[in-house]
Amino acid sequence: MKSPTYLSITALAGVLLSATAWAQGPGTDFSKIDIAAEKIATNLYMLSGSAGSDPAHQDAAGGRIGVLAGPDGIFMVDAQYAQLTDKVVAAIKQISPAPIRFMANTHVHIDHTGGNANFAKMGVTIFAREELREELLHPPALANGNPAPARDPASLPVVTYGLGVPVKIHMDGEVVDLIPVRAAHTGGDTMIRFENANAIMIGDFYRNYGYPYIDTNNGGSLKGALEALAATMELAGPDTKLIPGHGTIIHRTDLIPYRDMILAVQASVQQMIAQGKTQQEVLAAHVTAPYDAKVPGGLLPAGAGTSADRFVGMVYSELKSGKQIGARATLLFFLPLCAD
Ligand SMILES: [Zn+2]
Repeated sequence: MKSPTYLSITALAGVLLSATAWAQGPGTDFSKIDIAAEKIATNLYMLSGSAGSDPAHQDAAGGRIGVLAGPDGIFMVDAQYAQLTDKVVAAIKQISPAPIRFMANTHVHIDHTGGNANFAKMGVTIFAREELREELLHPPALANGNPAPARDPASLPVVTYGLGVPVKIHMDGEVVDLIPVRAAHTGGDTMIRFENANAIMIGDFYRNYGYPYIDTNNGGSLKGALEALAATMELAGPDTKLIPGHGTIIHRTDLIPYRDMILAVQASVQQMIAQGKTQQEVLAAHVTAPYDAKVPGGLLPAGAGTSADRFVGMVYSELKSGKQIGARATLLFFLPLCAD
């Protein structure tokens, strides 16, 4: 008899291939989603979709939006699903009547860039990594092997940058830093820091609803996600609000158990690979079991399996390909950061 966590090779392929489709909110009833605003600092707000109406993001529909408001106009982080643009614009107008001028994308996924073209057509200038622009232009194939539908060219970022120094935007009495992250959740991740508000929107390389999701089809990597966590720990002060694309607001110390969980799962999978186990044997062993009670949504569907299956399958693939940094090296790398 198959254990509940057993996955066939076919299902496993589905986990990997449907990863991109999964981020697109299949089965979402957009008419049921409301957009709620939460104040983070004097002129910084966070917009979230309502819970329970997006099967891919049960805790809050779509990806989170940031809104910096003031006399110089609105700067936004991310665009949500295209179907929610009118509701997002209405929520922003409740905050400020000022024109929406700029947007930065944290990464390519449709729950963060779906509305790009709608905002661009309103005159908003979009900033993002050059890699993100390439990912929008050349999306991975769909689960059935067909090419992904082309995105509206208006969704492409107009101002792009690489892995160099952060881009700084000075407006509304704030200094906004667009900080490029090495290939982590995707190949074109950016963290957006609001210096005066002492808040960083970190995108999706960290999440506290479901297990980590590394989109290798769009250039993401486990190694990069670990490096991004280290970079965030260095950037953030003890009181800095870290705002993920999904889930609850956290602080620097919350990153430590998350990183340790990744390293422990990585070590377990590495050991099983050394024992000659196949990917389906590793998935059947359910190596995330010690963490399942602490990861809300971790056993909910994500692609063809659970969020845990998707995470472990990705760790297995990356370790097999030899791209990972060893757990020991990672621990040494993190040690100085754990001291404070
Ligand atoms: Zn994402």
